[in-house]
Order: sequence, then C-alpha cells, then structure tokens
Amino acid sequence: MANYKITLLKGDGIGPEIVNQAVKVLDKAADKFGFTVEYDEALLGGCAIDATGVPLPEETIAKCKASDSVILGAVGGPKWDNQPGNNRPEAGLLGIRGALGLFANLRPSVIFGPLKSASPIKDEIIGDDMDIMIVRELTGGIYFGERGREEDAAWDTEKYSVAEVERIARVAFDLAMKRNKKLTSVDKANVLESSRLWRQTVVNVAKDYPEVELNHMYVDNCAMQLVRNPKQFDVIVTSNIFGDILSDEASMIAGSIGMLASASLSGGKLGLYEPIHGSAPDIAGKGIANPLATILSVAMMLRYSLAQPEAAQAIETAVAKVLETNRTPDIYEEGMNKVSCEQMGDLVCAQL
Ligand code: NAD
Repeated sequence: MANYKITLLKGDGIGPEIVNQAVKVLDKAADKFGFTVEYDEALLGGCAIDATGVPLPEETIAKCKASDSVILGAVGGPKWDNQPGNNRPEAGLLGIRGALGLFANLRPSVIFGPLKSASPIKDEIIGDDMDIMIVRELTGGIYFGERGREEDAAWDTEKYSVAEVERIARVAFDLAMKRNKKLTSVDKANVLESSRLWRQTVVNVAKDYPEVELNHMYVDNCAMQLVRNPKQFDVIVTSNIFGDILSDEASMIAGSIGMLASASLSGGKLGLYEPIHGSAPDIAGKGIANPLATILSVAMMLRYSLAQPEAAQAIETAVAKVLETNRTPDIYEEGMNKVSCEQMGDLVCAQL
C-alpha cells in the first residue's frame, strides 16, 4: 500500500482551520482509495516569526524536502505588518518556493456549475464547462533579472534561457496531454527579444508532442480573449510576469476567491499545494472560512504529485455535489444551507 509523507504548513489566520478540513478529506480519500498518509507539521510565516524570529526556519525547509508533498494554508496578518525589512511572513512564502525549486505554478480556473452566478462574466460566455489551466514560469524572468536604479532612472531585465523555457514548456505540454490536448503559449514576440526566444523554444519542444494543438498569442490579446471567449482555452503557458497578471484575471472569471486552488511544482514529484487566497484575518477563528480552495488543492496534489488521479477526481466531484445545496457564508445564496468551515469539510467527506 502506498504511503505518503505530507508536510503541513498551516500558517496564520484561517490557515489552520482550512488545512484541518483538507487533512480530513485527504484521510477519507486515503481510506477509500487504499493508501496511507503520514503528516508532519512545520512553521511558516507569522507563526514562525513568533516562535523562532524568522518566517522560514531551516527546519521547515528540511521537513518539506524530506516529504512527498507540502500543503500550505496561508501566511500573514496585521500583527506582522510592521516587521522590519524582509523579516515578514510573505518572505517565508517566496523563500520556501525558492528552496524547493518550484519553477512551475499551476492555477486552474474552473467554474463549478452551481456557482456560475458568482462570475462577473455573462452566463452565455462562460458556458457550463469553462476549465482553464494557467501554467506560469515562477523562478525566472523580470522578477529575478538584473535590476538597477540611478538618480532619475530605473530598470528591470526580462531574461530567459532556452533551458528555463524548455522545462516550463514540457510541464505545460504534459498537462495538455492529460487534458484536451490544446496549448496556448502567451508572449509578446512582436516586441520582445526574450519572447522570440520563448516562442522558438516552445515550437521546438512541440515536436515531442505531435498530438497537442499549439497556438501562440500576444499577451495583450490573451488578456482580452480571457473575458471575450474564455472557453477557447485549455492550457495556457507563459512567463512569470505575464502569468502573474493573467492568472489573477482568469481566477476572477471563476468567481469566489475561497474556491481557487493552486500547485507549484519542481522537476520531481515534490509540489507545494495551496489556496490562492490569503490568511483572511477578518474572519480568522470564527469558523466560517471556506475550506474548498484548500480541499481542491489537495485534489491537485493527488493528481500531480501522488499519482492518485481517481482520488483527485472523486474529491472534485464530491465538492461539486456538496455545492448544489451547501455554502459557506462567502458564497452563500438564498435557499442554500449555510454551513461552517468544519461542516463543509464533513460534507465533502460524507459525499466522498
Ligand atoms: P485575503 O485573501 O486573505 O482576503 C481577502 C478577502 O477575501 C477577505 O475579506 C477574506 O475574508 C476573504 N477570504 C479569503 N479567503 C477566504 C476563504 N477561504 N473563505 C472566506 N473568505 C475568504 O487577502 P488580504 O486581506 O489582502 O490579505 C490578508 C493577509 O493574507 C495579508 O497579510 C496578506 O499578505 C496575506 N496573503 C497571503 C497569501 C498567501 O499566504 N499565499 C496570499 C495573499 C495574501
């Protein structure tokens, strides 16, 4: 029987509440699909600053590296907003991504039928089955390039190597192969030299994936197409900065922030899985946080790191079913049962 070691970084604010529900669902899935999970906890963010003085203790890195995957809640809160310099909770987040070599960020934007009205986009445009996966390069490009400042000027450099583009392109092609075999590579090759290298490299990698239909799109057009006709997309692959912007845009198409999962992958099996929302200090401790983004992040972990696709699918199906009649306050609609964070976790387990 497969046994997986999972490190839990519960973090701050609603982090512990939502991760506890995700663990409950993962344990249920393990029972049902015949594997076991061993958990270890480590500190990240504000709670780590309180306990050790730094947001990312060495022990946390070591525990994450020794595990099959990591589940992260969220970090930060007003208590640590005035921390000096880089000793802030968010620095822990960037630090752990770097330490684990997580170069690929996967952000699905999926509409759950019962939540269609939460989308700011008209029904007929999103349709019933909008399901986009944005693959963002996470450790290169302008956020990490050479930068400088003179008295009256400043610059940041967008630089990509063939190797960096190749490895993110492969992640995207592999994903497309498991989905609808359609990949859109987004760049600005009409202006940027780095984009021309990006495009040329993606075209080269495409030779290894003859079944995938590849197209290229300029980033400005993509920003427009995402709201004009989001159903045209299956997988989108793009650079760090373009992916940062487009993935936020795409996630809003799906509506509520409490629903959106993400994965950050390294070359190997190890991945870090987390909701895209923050630590929601305004509702922390009230028992009303929506745990579904974290539960759906667990589904991504089962699919992309632990090779348990049936369990992943079962969790996603259970979430969709539960949403037909039950809502946490953030996604509440007239006529539904209003449930707490814990009840939502229990309902997903029962449905599973
Ligand atoms: P946030 O995502 O925490 O909250 C924004 C709003 O959405 C709030 O009204 C909150 O109550 C609501 N919300 C968020 N998640 C929810 C959930 N699961 N269920 C119900 N409602 C939910 O963003 P913010 O308020 O800008 O940031 C709060 C703190 O979180 C800050 O310290 C910020 O730095 C940090 N943050 C952390 C991460 C992370 O850990 N990955 C990401 C973003 C922000």
